[in-house]
Amino acid sequence: MKSDKLVIKLSELDNVAVVPHAKGLQIGTALENGITVQEYVPMGHKVAIKDISRGESITRYGQKIAIANEVIKAGQWVNEHKISLPVPPDLDSLSYEKLPVKKARALNGYTFDGYKNADGSVGTKNLLAISNSVQCVAGLTEYVVKKIKKELLPKYPNVDGVVGLNHSYGCGIAIDAPAAIVPIRTLKNIALNPNFGGHALVIGLGCEKLRPESIVNNASDDTSIFYMQSEANEGFMAIVDDVMKLAEKHLGTLNKRKREPCPASDLVVGMQCGGSDAFSGITANPAAGFAADLIVRAGGSVMFSEVTEVRDAIHLLIPRAADIEVAEALKREMLWYDNYLKLGQADRSANTSPGNKRGGLSTIVEKALGSIIKSGTSPIVDVLAPGEKIRKKGLNFAATPASDFVCGTLQLASGMNMHVFMTGRGTPYGLAEVPVIKVSSNTVLSKRWHDLIDLDAGQIATGEKTIEEMGWELFKMILAVASGKMKVAADKLELHNDLVLFNPGPLT
Ligand code: CA
Repeated sequence: MKSDKLVIKLSELDNVAVVPHAKGLQIGTALENGITVQEYVPMGHKVAIKDISRGESITRYGQKIAIANEVIKAGQWVNEHKISLPVPPDLDSLSYEKLPVKKARALNGYTFDGYKNADGSVGTKNLLAISNSVQCVAGLTEYVVKKIKKELLPKYPNVDGVVGLNHSYGCGIAIDAPAAIVPIRTLKNIALNPNFGGHALVIGLGCEKLRPESIVNNASDDTSIFYMQSEANEGFMAIVDDVMKLAEKHLGTLNKRKREPCPASDLVVGMQCGGSDAFSGITANPAAGFAADLIVRAGGSVMFSEVTEVRDAIHLLIPRAADIEVAEALKREMLWYDNYLKLGQADRSANTSPGNKRGGLSTIVEKALGSIIKSGTSPIVDVLAPGEKIRKKGLNFAATPASDFVCGTLQLASGMNMHVFMTGRGTPYGLAEVPVIKVSSNTVLSKRWHDLIDLDAGQIATGEKTIEEMGWELFKMILAVASGKMKVAADKLELHNDLVLFNPGPLT
């Protein structure tokens, strides 16, 4: 891909190409093979490079992304009004034939400075986490978090910060409904995130359905749970004082943690994209995929997620399953989500946002093909149901909704210690719990948002960098950020999103 290219074609089979230039493609521009541009095509959008008849497939990445609703002449703009969505791959008819995989060369010698935990996990931050068992106490949590930051943190220089894990769950819920397992295990596993050192403190109200004991790791430790309704305290300030005392105990323990060299195999990187555009699948996601392969070669773990952005490319992922159990688990998660959407009388086309479409992503199929590239090329070794803790090193599929903050929350529960987030349209997304490296898919965005974007993968489209170079750059950035040697934009500005639980169960 060169900067002087008027359009980017990804496969010889493609009948459309993407416009890389910020100014778009003007009427009358001459393309290769004697094609003249018939109408203005904006940046990131697709131009037909062959005549396409009505009912014919629109092909990008060598795959069918849509069906033409009308005759589209070479040189015309291919937008969502001229095409319709093909049917998704039928899960029942997908059989498992393992793709022959070349054994990847091990990558040795890469380390980062992390915080080792008793359970074998490694933190990239040293944080005091204050969780709670119900939204009722969210105000108390916020109050004490502010007070701890101001009054206690300066006394514990080895502690990087304090985070309140407020959420909307805990009461008014059908706690025995089968689907309640998702939010409950998410809260339990978030408290175990490597960045909290096994010392999360949980505030309960007292009368809620979800018991703090069920979301805290060590319920017998009387410093890990506090009940606001405890009769021992008179008045709010007495309650606050008690929480502050408990917090101080945890801070004392956390303050003893020190960064030490850890192999790159201790990385657990959650990959996600949001606010994608047509470049995401050409620049940022392929660079992330290359970095994902490097992490796996180094013995580390990578998670990719977002079921609705995987569903239409599942036929490409099943052959990458390490064994038949993983293939079946992939299908199981797709089927679960198909049914979940059906219950809400929605389908997968609900995924693409107006911003995606303005950015040139016309259908969920096109979005999915660009999205799965961030998983790289490694075999998929395990599939995690929403909120489950990671069990195996290597490439994992962690099933989550594609919604940015819900996916991020679930990946936190699965145990990520680094987050990489690709965006084309731009989002200020960040998490207080783990560092989030934001990678832009195009240079226009990274220039406009120079203080919000950490890495510009748009250089791949302009020809300044190759996917490999950008992938290595991202890998090294992950190690630097994980070591605390580099601060991501979201942390510098303290732009942090709320935790948003995935609750597929009923409220009462
Ligand atoms: Ca997302």
